[in-house]
Amino acid sequence: MSTSASMHDAEAISSLEAAFVMQRAAFAKDRRPSIGVRQERLGALIGMMLANRERISAAVAQDFGAHPVPASDLIEVLGVVGRAQHVLEHLEDWMVPSPRHTDTAMLGTATAQIEYQPKGVVGNIVPWNFPFDLSVGPMVDMLAAGNRVIVKPSEYTPACADLLAEMVAATFDPDLVTVAVGGLELARAFSSIPWDHLLYTGSPAVGRQVMQAAAANLTPVTLELGGKCPAILTPGSVTEANVESVIGTKLIKSGQMCVSVDYALVPREDLETFVTHAASFMARAAPNYSRGEECTGMISPRHLQRIEDMLEEAQAAQCRIVTLEEDGQIDFKTRRMPMSLAIDPSQDLRIMQEEIFGPILPVVPYDNLDMALDAINAGERPLGLYVFGNDLALTNHVLASTHSGGAAVNTCAIQSALPSMGFGGSGMSGMGRHHGIEGFREFSNPRGVVVRGEGDLIDVFYAPYAKAAGLVQAVLAGS
Ligand code: NAD
Repeated sequence: MSTSASMHDAEAISSLEAAFVMQRAAFAKDRRPSIGVRQERLGALIGMMLANRERISAAVAQDFGAHPVPASDLIEVLGVVGRAQHVLEHLEDWMVPSPRHTDTAMLGTATAQIEYQPKGVVGNIVPWNFPFDLSVGPMVDMLAAGNRVIVKPSEYTPACADLLAEMVAATFDPDLVTVAVGGLELARAFSSIPWDHLLYTGSPAVGRQVMQAAAANLTPVTLELGGKCPAILTPGSVTEANVESVIGTKLIKSGQMCVSVDYALVPREDLETFVTHAASFMARAAPNYSRGEECTGMISPRHLQRIEDMLEEAQAAQCRIVTLEEDGQIDFKTRRMPMSLAIDPSQDLRIMQEEIFGPILPVVPYDNLDMALDAINAGERPLGLYVFGNDLALTNHVLASTHSGGAAVNTCAIQSALPSMGFGGSGMSGMGRHHGIEGFREFSNPRGVVVRGEGDLIDVFYAPYAKAAGLVQAVLAGS
């Protein structure tokens, strides 16, 4: 990092610390915002996203080199608005305390309930791949739960970070929501703040560092990480529609999506059918993919180089590469590149060892489905797992025999986009959830509250214990 970047980060770290202190003080004065206040905040968030729709598309395109406008509208803007609208419809019900059973013989007329209390000041560290969806989307759940929020965008998306900071400053008081913009030093300092909860979305390697920093404060964390998401085409399912679903998903953001298909498992006898369907879908849907408006650029020259290196390594190892575009070339100005299939790659290649996060799809043949499932289970638990087939018993068998953060049958990735359904990982792909009621609860403290009534036996827990002996005997006799 240059000296001026360090100085900039030093200033950004002081501002961050001041913002945290200010938000903590504001929270102390308003520990349980009413439903009306929360609804107003979510309404403001929706207005902010809709009013800035075109600027959001432009900023995303600027950071990525090239980016389809409808994809920004759908995912970065309308996806977030849809989440907020879902919360607005249900928040009143979610905030109602949940009554719990009490044993009247022991507790008499006492009552007990879980009350969903705001946690306080919540931090959100955001990756570059969905700069608004992953900053403002979780903010919906955080504000719904009554928290205050500080967001840290990625240093790879400076245009989006500046726009987000401007939008948020124009919409919310900084003691409610604010944005911390800076480089890696700021990122590291951010995870050391004693947040009441910290959300981190990004790679497992950095996730580990974030969790270590959070552990020093015993800050609870939600980690939304990545991994290698498989698409499993069961025997008989290599149809035009299913291959379109796999390739279509991989094209989103040129594969730079945590729930993208990382590799496809295909019955060996259907390998060529898969390749044929993939090529005909691309010829129909995006014939000049890397030169056209459908394509998203790699986020930086370094990320582009990484994908080129992976492809070159596979080629050098004699892996068959099928480029799904005639005369497809990398456009170094916009960092757009063609989509390639890597057929039957050897397991030791980087494309089979690392999350690809780019436009290469390994197509891995299998002879026996259960052995293919064993191979998945031998690796880390994926964020998403996709299974194709019309035999319900077989697709259920695949789901029952595997483990992943989420899953989808006869489609890919959509489990991450439902406003009504919690989304997150398992094992190395993460912990905790956001979206929907699971998100509201993730950022709430489920405080169990008992109100003492009459006719209870609570004093048996106090000395002298001789008076508890009769009760112990009675319970043992009855059980
Ligand atoms: P990254 O881990 O490099 O960076 C993410 C964020 O972490 C950035 O804001 C960055 O500034 C910050 N950061 C970097 N180093 C840090 C440190 N030492 N301490 C604290 N913060 C630090 O991840 P990335 O390359 O931006 O994103 C790609 C990864 O994210 C992929 O693995 C992908 O699967 C995953 N991802 C997961 C989800 C999900 O919802 N599960 C969504 C998108 C991306």
